[in-house]
Amino acid sequence: MTTFNLQRQLLPFLVLLFLIPISLYAAPVRQPSVAELTIGASAQGRPISALRIGDGPIKLVIVGNTHGAPEANTHALATMLADYFRTNPHEVPPAVRLYIIPTINPDGLALGTRLNARGVDLNRNMNTNLDACPDNDWRVTVFGAYGIVSDTGGPYPDSEVESRVLRSFLLDAWGAIFLHSAAGNVFPAFCEHAPSIDMAHVYAAASGYRYTRFWEQYVITGGMHDWAAGLGIAAIIPELITGTEPEFEQNLAGVQAVLAAVEELLPAPEDRVENGIVVPAVLWRHWRMHGGNDLFGPPLAPAVVEHGVTRQIFERAVLELHPEWSDTPYLVQVAPLGRSYAPVGAAPQNDCAPPVCLRFTETPYAIRGAFAAYWERHGGTQTFGFPLSDEVTAYAADGEWRVQQVFERAVLTLNDDGSVVLEPVGWAFLVRERSLAPTAAHQVR
Ligand SMILES: [Zn+2]
Repeated sequence: MTTFNLQRQLLPFLVLLFLIPISLYAAPVRQPSVAELTIGASAQGRPISALRIGDGPIKLVIVGNTHGAPEANTHALATMLADYFRTNPHEVPPAVRLYIIPTINPDGLALGTRLNARGVDLNRNMNTNLDACPDNDWRVTVFGAYGIVSDTGGPYPDSEVESRVLRSFLLDAWGAIFLHSAAGNVFPAFCEHAPSIDMAHVYAAASGYRYTRFWEQYVITGGMHDWAAGLGIAAIIPELITGTEPEFEQNLAGVQAVLAAVEELLPAPEDRVENGIVVPAVLWRHWRMHGGNDLFGPPLAPAVVEHGVTRQIFERAVLELHPEWSDTPYLVQVAPLGRSYAPVGAAPQNDCAPPVCLRFTETPYAIRGAFAAYWERHGGTQTFGFPLSDEVTAYAADGEWRVQQVFERAVLTLNDDGSVVLEPVGWAFLVRERSLAPTAAHQVR
């Protein structure tokens, strides 16, 4: 048979194939998307990465290697889990976005220490004062591995850049699994939190690790799992049995069991009522984790949605939820209200004596003394932006003549007792907005 004849005989089949609707070839097999993200950098500038598998609303985050080199097997495990789900993305249910962070402490891993590069234990540094139990509240002096007591909690809660990367990344999470070694048990957040307890039971049963209600050797202060549960995130710690092996099969079984029951196990982030006003879940978490009333003041009005951005006015700030910035530190932003307070044409002062003076390439103005300490402690550029003035003297909202400094997103005021407070720029914004609101229909010219 010649080639020509073969083609002639095949022709009817080819025509037939062409007529079969395309949808029969390309059966709609859902393939979850997979993406590599860089979510931040360590104190020494090493990237902190995450693998994302899936596109669903339920954000579940696996965090490896908080304790650096002595727990390098949790880095190996998280890497193996990432490779596994990258190859088998269909195992992630359609409702889920699974994230795996191989190491939240790349400096500790590289430098051969449990601590970060600044000598802080990242699992003792979180602001655990947000939950209902005082026992696990953040402290400088902490229990560490083998019960060793040391001052490695950090200078204040959430002081470390790695803690802040995690804090931002978990803002909209439903569940979090923090991998540690070596004790061979699984335990939930210390403070009573039913979703955390349920998830720990499921993970323990599937992995074969022993369930314990909490870490039995001592109370962990400033722990990531306790911080997460304090904001409503289901949070557990699986402790591998050994300090050397990744124990991949056991932990894969644990993760698969959580994924299989994910819709029953993991709670959706919850809206809360503050000052008699509903605060949408993710805005509430941001407000709360940054100090709530103490920093931003109470909400003054219900949230409104405009062009996809959810905005709510608090006494001392306006918070905005930008869904397009999801999985970045800019998911919730403080509106740049400070700009309208900036003095015009003030020549910057040049004196700047570290360590109580901060200078930037982005602005000619420096931050000094009490303002510098407050700015660093409460979120830096993310919360306040850069300075738009030096210290100025002006009438503060309390009617007193006070030292202030204007930033892109806030105005800071120094009180007589040396404390610093945000001016009520949210309140002023609300007053301005309401006084400008038309009481009748717009005139048509
Ligand atoms: Zn550990």
